[in-house]
Amino acid sequence: MKKIEHLGIAVRDIDKGIDLYEKLLGTPCYKRETVETEGVVTAFFRTGESKVELLQGLNETSPITRFIEKKGEGIHHIAFAVENIHAEIDRLKREGFELINDVPKEGADNKLIAFLHPRSTNGVLVEICMDRDDL
Ligand code: ZN
Repeated sequence: MKKIEHLGIAVRDIDKGIDLYEKLLGTPCYKRETVETEGVVTAFFRTGESKVELLQGLNETSPITRFIEKKGEGIHHIAFAVENIHAEIDRLKREGFELINDVPKEGADNKLIAFLHPRSTNGVLVEICMDRDDL
């Protein structure tokens, strides 16, 4: 894996989250994007080579809403950039990791993404991602 692409942080209120993280990071949010299929609104910040992604659930059945109900706001996932997401999914399966997505799906920020189940990664929800343009 190439680098930590971004950290995903679950927030109850994306507007308040944007205000807070603009102050914290000293940099403006450069993109706000709704991903209907995932039931989330996202907001992105650049911090050097990596990014911060804020996520707010769009409705009660959104995985982000359920996450916040169970655990409260906070770090939701860690995303690693990979060269070739298909090859990486195959490699991780061979290594015994449990993939939530066997087939990559479209995520925010022009990415193809797949998640690993926290059961197989010491309780951490891990995302792997690559730019859709790199396919
Ligand atoms: Zn993410």
